[in-house]
Formats: sequence, structure tokens, C-alpha cells
Amino acid sequence: MAIKGKPDEFFDELEIMSADTREKYFNQRLSQTIDHAYRHAPAVREIFEEAGVSPDQIRSVKDLERLPITRKTDLIDLQKANPPYGGFLTTPPEEVERVFLSPGPVYEPIQHSGIRWFAKSFWAAGFRKGDVVINTFTYHLSPAGILFHEALRDCGATAIPMGTGNTEIQIQTMHDLKVTGYVGTPSFLMTLIKRAEEMGYNFRRDFALKRAWFTGEMLPPSLRKTFEEDYQIATAQTYAVTETGGALAYECREKSGMHLMDEYVIEIVDPETGKQLGPGEIGEIVVTPIHNKVWGLVRFGTGDLSSYITEPCPCGRTANRLTGIVGRAGDAIKVRGMFVVAKQAEQVFLGFEEIAKFQISVTRREQRDEMTLKVELKHEATEEDKRRLAKDLDGKFQDVCRIKPDRIDFIKKGTIPEQYQKIVDERTWE
Ligand SMILES: [Zn+2]
Repeated sequence: MAIKGKPDEFFDELEIMSADTREKYFNQRLSQTIDHAYRHAPAVREIFEEAGVSPDQIRSVKDLERLPITRKTDLIDLQKANPPYGGFLTTPPEEVERVFLSPGPVYEPIQHSGIRWFAKSFWAAGFRKGDVVINTFTYHLSPAGILFHEALRDCGATAIPMGTGNTEIQIQTMHDLKVTGYVGTPSFLMTLIKRAEEMGYNFRRDFALKRAWFTGEMLPPSLRKTFEEDYQIATAQTYAVTETGGALAYECREKSGMHLMDEYVIEIVDPETGKQLGPGEIGEIVVTPIHNKVWGLVRFGTGDLSSYITEPCPCGRTANRLTGIVGRAGDAIKVRGMFVVAKQAEQVFLGFEEIAKFQISVTRREQRDEMTLKVELKHEATEEDKRRLAKDLDGKFQDVCRIKPDRIDFIKKGTIPEQYQKIVDERTWE
């Protein structure tokens, strides 16, 4: 909990390490983790052998590029072939305290005693002793219920294991126990507020809720504004991935990106080559836990796409920040060296009311990728209107996706089929 002689803002010393200290810390922890996993987990040994790499060649974060990425589908296959843990267990099985299940199924062994770092994300969101908090994540199978519950306790807060559903019981509990904190998805909090209002409550007057901690779902800026301004609820987001057993990045009070959790080595890489990318470049989030005593995952590919920024944060935390999740690796294709993500493109088109549908087509001409935005309009438009729209669209697309479209074609309404992909790769490589 708060560090002696430091502002109450920080949970531990790791959050305020200097860049030099962090680099040394990562390299040292990573070396230990790699040596341990190689010695005890047969699956890890096999990964190294296939890559022709020895553990003493992995001594820095950069060295990780030598190793392949293990994805969820690999984990499922490996656990099927070598049950139950796929050869990733680094301790005798009786040392495993808990096992969680995620869809697949993937079995995730966890030894939780002594782990407190999850609490960092709640601490940064302002949870303290005196808070009474409902945790609305499920307590069955997945780690969210019990791990977030314990993290709240580590912050000193009173935790109520509500689980999912039971909307009216949740509302009554929030009211009767003067609940001050919410843990769950943004959409479920909105459901609770709306239902409470239908039941005749005035939410701001009759409830004591003042902070909310979200994960598992995007928080649209408009919804965040509603929570913060209309209902006076402070909001904070965390990025968590169940297979890695944890919360990987979290927002501070600046709400401008999520600080990377120092208990993991988190890389942003080109999903095709596995090479690390620089600040601002969109790539896949790849995770190596460096404090997990039983589970030897090395370079787990989350499939989530993001980028990171290195600018210092006014909050005082020194870790780099993730800029948010922009999509899934399968939804993105590389055009002239830049990833174009369907979801990001969608954001661009949503800003134009007159557009009914769009599709992005990528072709190849004279050794160069060409990107065409195909647009269906809701109503007929004059050539003049189309020219103006094309110009606006072109500018906005470059702002958001950081790449210039080669053409914008207005096509007849109904040309794009009912079930369609937002981005079509029509390139041939001959
Ligand atoms: Zn910060």
C-alpha cells in the first residue's frame, strides 16, 4: 500500500522507477523468469529448442524478439496434447492454489499468495479504506471475480461479491449499504442506473456511488462523459487478459492512456514478424509475466492491437502508457507498412451521417498497395456534395488511421452485400 514518505497517490516503488532502474529491473526479472521456465516447463524448453535459442540468449526485453509468439489457439492445442496445463507448469502440481478456466477451454493455474499488484489499478482509481464496493464480475470459473475482490481488499475497501445479473438486488444493495464503488463493465453500470431510475429513484440523490472501475469492454467517450458529468461518478479503465492472469495496464487520474503494469514485460509487435514496434505504432500486445511462480508463459500474444506512448505523465508514474485497444489482430491488415484496423476505420465513417455503408478494399498495382474507400450514401447526392464529402473523409481518415486513401469511390446503394467484411484484402503476390 502507499509508500512511506511518498504521496498517497502511489501503490508501490515500481510505479515511480526511473527509466534506468526499470530497464535493469526488467532485464534481471526476465532472465530469472526465462531460466526458471526453461528448467521446469517442458513446453517452454520445446519453444526454445525449435527456435534454436538458449536461455542465456534472452537477457533483455529486446532479446525476446528471438522467440516465437504463443497465442490462445496454441495454448488450447498444447493443453489438449499434453493435459492439463500443456507443459507450461513450472512447479509441482500440488503447489497450484487455484485453477481458472477461460473459453477454449484453457486451464490457468495460479498461485496467488503474496500477489498484490492487481490492487495497483484500483489504488490509482482512488479506491481506499472506507469505500464499499460491489464487484459485478462473475465469481465462477474466470479470475475476474475473486482476483478483483482480493485487490479491493488490498486497497482496504469493503468488497461485496455481487457477481453478474440480479439487477434489482444489486440496486437494493447499492442503496441499503451506501455503496461508493462499482467494479464491472460500463454497460452494466448504465443498466443499473437506468433500472434504478425506472424504479423511481433519483440516482444522484439516493445513491452514494462516486467511483467506477471498468474492464472487459470499451468505454466510449460519450458514456464516460455521462457517468462523470451527469452522475458525478469518477471512472477508470483497466486492460486485463485472463490467460495472463491479470490486469496489464491501468489508467491514472489523468485518464490519458493506461500505465503498463511492471509485473509483466509488455511488447507491442508486428503480429506477422514478432518484431517490436516503436512508440505510436499500432501492433499486437504481447505479454510475458515476470512474477508468476507457476505458469511459464513466454511471449503470449493477446491478439489485441494497441500502441504506446513514452511522454511523461503528470501523475508521476513513470511507466509507458497504452493508448487503448483499437481492435483485434485478425481485423487488421497492413497497407504500405501501416496497420489499418477495421474498428478504427469505422470510427471515421461513423462521423459522417450521410454515409450508409463503407468497405475498404486493398489491391496491389506496380508493387505498391492501393487502398480504396468504397462508400454507399443514404441518399442521392450532387457531384459537388460528393467532392466535399470525399475531401472531408480523406482528411479524417488520415487523422485517425495515419494513412492516406488512394481513392474514394461512391458506389450505388445496395452494392455492398448484407454480410460483409469492413476491410477486404484483394492483393495478389506474384
Ligand atoms: Zn499517469
